[in-house]
Amino acid sequence: MRFTPNLKWNLTKLNLGYIHAPLTALGPGRRVGVWLCGCARNCPGCLSPEFADFKAGEALTATNLTRIVLDLAKKHRLSAVTISGGEPFARPRPLKTLVSGLRSGGIEDILVYTGYWAYDLTEEFPWIEKYISALVDGPFERQNPSKEIFRGSDNQSLNIFEYRDYFITRSYLNWKKVEKRQAQIVVDPDLRLRILGIPGPGDYDHLFEPFPTPPPEDEPTA
Ligand code: SF4
Repeated sequence: MRFTPNLKWNLTKLNLGYIHAPLTALGPGRRVGVWLCGCARNCPGCLSPEFADFKAGEALTATNLTRIVLDLAKKHRLSAVTISGGEPFARPRPLKTLVSGLRSGGIEDILVYTGYWAYDLTEEFPWIEKYISALVDGPFERQNPSKEIFRGSDNQSLNIFEYRDYFITRSYLNWKKVEKRQAQIVVDPDLRLRILGIPGPGDYDHLFEPFPTPPPEDEPTA
């Protein structure tokens, strides 16, 4: 979908749906994961429909959210962040404030997942290549599933911008080569189970399958 202006451009706040550290399943290495709410696309089979509502989560100024992410990064000694959603570019102005603030605060590597195409976004927002290390772009297509680690469907691709930093570029190139899909299962304080990363088809079903009944133990012999 080509990037088109919408009324949400001027919103100054970002709705935080979820945040987690360390995140190991969405981007190279250990990272802070940030999920922003709001996406109008309704892709069939969307992996994160709970973040589609623009009013879901907690509405925060980009400056406050930057502080929260930097505090979490400091606590876990992390210098990389993944931003997903929802559609992070649904609110590009506060997103720019967030990514530029993270860079100023010492974050060296920022990966963003978007349903738009990188060439449309970079044309519209030249600041992307200044602050964002890599974009995984394109809408999720359920009928076109991928087994590759970084994407949910084969129409999506990894666009690396961080050619200034050899080690970051290399980490993305190595990550791209990893064939085995990773998912990270976390238990929230309210005991809710979450799968972070990109689960393969049927992974959720396997997770909630009942444990097989163990065979009866032999009767003890006298
Ligand atoms: S663009 Fe992403 S978040 Fe939005 S509906 Fe599609 S898969 Fe879900």
